[in-house]
Amino acid sequence: MTDSRPGVVVIGSGVVGLTTALELRVRGANVRVYTDASGHPPASRIAPALFTPYPGPDETVFRSRTERSYAALAAIASNHADESGVHLGVLHEYNYHPHESRAWLDRLMDTRPLTPLPEGLCAATSSRRPHVDMRRYLPWLERRARSVGIEIISRRVGSFRDLDDGATDTVVNCAGLGSRTLAGDGLIKPMHGQVIHVQNDIGVERSVHDDAPGGLVAYIFVFRDRLVLGGTFDADRDDHRTDEDSIEGIVDRCRGLLRLDGNPRWNDLARGPRTTFAGVRPTRGPAGAFEHIRVEREEQTNGPVVIHNYGHGRAGVSLAWGTAAEAASLALPASTARPDAAIIA
Ligand SMILES: Cc1cc2nc3c(=O)[nH]c(=O)nc-3n(C[C@H](O)[C@H](O)[C@H](O)COP(=O)(O)OP(=O)(O)OC[C@H]3O[C@@H](n4cnc5c(N)ncnc54)[C@H](O)[C@@H]3O)c2cc1C
Repeated sequence: MTDSRPGVVVIGSGVVGLTTALELRVRGANVRVYTDASGHPPASRIAPALFTPYPGPDETVFRSRTERSYAALAAIASNHADESGVHLGVLHEYNYHPHESRAWLDRLMDTRPLTPLPEGLCAATSSRRPHVDMRRYLPWLERRARSVGIEIISRRVGSFRDLDDGATDTVVNCAGLGSRTLAGDGLIKPMHGQVIHVQNDIGVERSVHDDAPGGLVAYIFVFRDRLVLGGTFDADRDDHRTDEDSIEGIVDRCRGLLRLDGNPRWNDLARGPRTTFAGVRPTRGPAGAFEHIRVEREEQTNGPVVIHNYGHGRAGVSLAWGTAAEAASLALPASTARPDAAIIA
């Protein structure tokens, strides 16, 4: 980082780190990403993923993050569908438990009731949401970052002080679970999740999701070349193993969900080859809360200013553009560029 632009180091190259790096770059910063490539794949590589914006403690912040992220993903879907792996698709959602709806969110996602309401359910809706194929989206973000001059370097950062090299004005911490040690944050906790990739050989046309009628959620997300079946949400579990019982449980629940959604071939789901994956979500919050995302500026007594952007839990793919914009504004308060257009056009 040798020129006169502010030098910013981003820690982490998951969806949050890469999105933040792009936001910083279009606001004029000289950006370098350091990423620990030595361990298990980050959560961002395992996520299926669908636009699922779980709320945090502040409703106003949640709304602005959600709206901004939806707009960015919708623009990417419209301008770069093939390369980016992002498309807008229909989700049918079945609620067995009362849930809090939000008029602004329903408008954003064009949410409509499904009729007639199946017996025993509180709600059934159809909505239009970004579907993000992370096997294509993450490499696309990385290519995009490199093409605008962002360096991505494999390096594990031991402490923020290690980055006090005279050229780094600001550090943006997007280390996800790594923030437990890096930022000494005891509110960060792992949440294990398992998913199955199968061929769509039974003509599933839309994604489906329920809210855990028997205590466990089922979902099927439809992508161009496969279906992703989920899922599990094991709090405080930090390993990358899948297990047969959980996988069979997911398949059973997904068949039931498909049947409820009226697919006549529900019983043939996942009869062919299956590929299973497990990942660990970086949740944050007090007991029972998972998306108390930390976007905050922290002055260090020695070393560069640190901006934190981590703790996205179950919603990192959904909310990354929103929190990236907030983090970039904290890192470069004088910047005036409108970022999205330059990145997405
Ligand atoms: C099974 C599953 C299903 C999911 N489904 C969805 C979904 O449908 N919708 C949705 O929005 N979200 C979903 N999520 C959640 C989403 O994947 C996460 O919220 C998101 O990936 C978090 O991104 P991140 O960049 O913060 O963290 P990560 O992707 O974990 O990235 C962290 C990065 O920090 C780096 N790092 C850590 N420590 C250091 C260090 N000391 N030095 C240098 N680098 C470091 C790591 O190498 C990595 O690059 C799902 C997750 C899982 C596991």
